[in-house]
Amino acid sequence: MDLAELEAALVARGSEPFHARQIYRWIYARGVSEFDAMTDLSQVLRTTLAADLRVTTPRVSRRDVSADGTTKFLLTLEDGLDIESVFIPDTPSNTFCISTQVGCAMKCGFCLTGKMGLVRNLTAGEIAGQVRVLAAETGLRDKRFNIVLMGMGEPLHNYDHTMKALRMLASPHGLAVSPRRITLSTVGVVPALDRLAREPLMPNLAISLHATTEDQRDFLVPVNRKYGLEDILEACRRFPLKHRNRITIEYVLLRGVNTSEQDARRLVRLMHGIRCKINLIPLNEAPGIPFERPTDAEIDAFASILADHHLTVSVRKSRGRDIRAACGQLIVESPRRSPAQVLADRM
Ligand code: SAH
Repeated sequence: MDLAELEAALVARGSEPFHARQIYRWIYARGVSEFDAMTDLSQVLRTTLAADLRVTTPRVSRRDVSADGTTKFLLTLEDGLDIESVFIPDTPSNTFCISTQVGCAMKCGFCLTGKMGLVRNLTAGEIAGQVRVLAAETGLRDKRFNIVLMGMGEPLHNYDHTMKALRMLASPHGLAVSPRRITLSTVGVVPALDRLAREPLMPNLAISLHATTEDQRDFLVPVNRKYGLEDILEACRRFPLKHRNRITIEYVLLRGVNTSEQDARRLVRLMHGIRCKINLIPLNEAPGIPFERPTDAEIDAFASILADHHLTVSVRKSRGRDIRAACGQLIVESPRRSPAQVLADRM
């Protein structure tokens, strides 16, 4: 529930809406999930709430720590399905990379999450819940951190729950995460981009472009057949950006596929009229991914062409590769039970 829904739930139970703020503080700012421990609520209210409401929190089932400090959390949801969330320290600040779906329907050719297919959407509570868990686990509840929606799933394919989660996280009575500290990364679902453009609460936007022609993108990011490169760039051109803000254009570098000089020059041309910064992501290789990472020299050569044409360009540093926590490596292989088995068990 967002704050307004919680207020309505209180009123429906014969109570006062202002208690919603107290409950938010307990859950988000203090990490308490038992109504009985919310000592500034009357005993009657605590009992009433506990009768038919629950605060569900993803459970940490496993924790892997990389040599570079990156920590990958395997989180188990109430129905037994698993997701992964990643804590990336010193980026230079601290960043939580969180998931918006169990699996993903997009099937990008270089991403392991796509191999799972879409199992289900996460609820707003599960999306915000990952942040609650990671903040508690890393001791950062009272500190500043960034959030990137770059874990498992396509956030704009789960639009309502994702935006509701951002509202819940932004609440001044909870974690008070400013949308300026949140980056939403998307393959570019055009109608959802236009909807996002009208949101009062606006995260930073990152577009997973990865290609410079429609054919090449059809091949790498299959949803391009529905929402093509040109349409996405048009949506970017009309996207309202606040002063000095820019859209991040993500471009995964696949050796011999999209890293030629022509690719770089085409990318420069495509960026015309878009206030952007380019983030190059050298492929994180994995078994089952039929592409190769370019050499450092090839990466530099590609980046130089963009920089020579006055584009702001950065190369994403791969974090947590030794624990398979890097971009595109999040997959729940579920040694215990497959998502299909978990769902079948509940039938
Ligand atoms: N669905 C969203 C967010 C998920 S992934 C999106 O597509 O933007 C975050 C970024 O990691 C995306 O740009 C994605 O294309 C990239 N990525 C996926 N697999 C990768 C891999 N194996 N190596 C490097 N980057 C990868």
